[in-house]
Amino acid sequence: MEVTHTVAWMKQVARQARAEDRILGFVPTMGALHEGHFSLVRAARQQCSPVVVSIFVNPKQFGPSEDLQKYPRTFEADSAALEKLGVDYLFAPPPEEIYPRGFRTAVVVEGLSDRLEGRARPGHFRGVATVVLKLFEIVQPRFAYFGRKDAQQVRIIQQMAADLDLDAQIVACPIVREPDGLALSSRNLYLKGTERRAATVLYRALDAVRREIAAGQRDTAHLTVALRKVVESEPGVALDYAEIVDAETLEPVATLRRTCYVLLAAFVGGTRLIDNALIEQDGESFRMTL
Ligand code: AMP
Repeated sequence: MEVTHTVAWMKQVARQARAEDRILGFVPTMGALHEGHFSLVRAARQQCSPVVVSIFVNPKQFGPSEDLQKYPRTFEADSAALEKLGVDYLFAPPPEEIYPRGFRTAVVVEGLSDRLEGRARPGHFRGVATVVLKLFEIVQPRFAYFGRKDAQQVRIIQQMAADLDLDAQIVACPIVREPDGLALSSRNLYLKGTERRAATVLYRALDAVRREIAAGQRDTAHLTVALRKVVESEPGVALDYAEIVDAETLEPVATLRRTCYVLLAAFVGGTRLIDNALIEQDGESFRMTL
């Protein structure tokens, strides 16, 4: 695996791959890698060669009171794990390489960015879209892999790719969970003592929605009440939002239809976690994928 820290060198690699008509796969990350990230790398390896992974803790997607400074950084372990997985290139630029002095441009995917995570974290998706477009320009991927763990993010990137006629095909991969249901996240490293167990409440709340749907419930207000009840039963956990939305528009729906997401964010102690499940219509019934 070759490790590169410069835009110029990464562009050179990308140009060469394109000239040779190779299918370059790209997995953008912020590091502190876990099985969730590795699942994206494996998916990329199956379809693409070469595979490029980036590690860049993007300052523009953190709010002023968020955890940019303390975000976990485990470069040595990340790099060793990626090498083992057969990654060809690790792109790990320093912040000034991506945002040199005088940087002024931003990418805004209107509408989709203002809701849910975007409302809780103003400017977050502007930072995400800006860095992803920039990384795409540098890496020139044919396929780019994202986790459905961040469902709104994938939807926004897909919209950006469509709107701007990007060559990259966006691949959304399933959520990887711990055996007890907790979705893997770099921020799980923050969970202390009893918080780790309490954090499974996000999954348990989604599972309560799944059971209600299986029992025939279609009314989203009712489903959200069931979800809230589970979260409220867990001491030390505060729900930030819970919504059931159309998977395309991310607008709330009153009754289940076609493809929806149930999404939630909650504070477990001081740690903010997100989770979601996909609800797909199958004839008269609905199937939920956690
Ligand atoms: P991050 O390093 O948090 O920016 O995440 C990099 C990519 O990994 C994003 O596309 C995430 O959605 C994805 N990812 C993070 N956690 C998981 C998970 N538990 N399952 C699947 N994908 C994940």
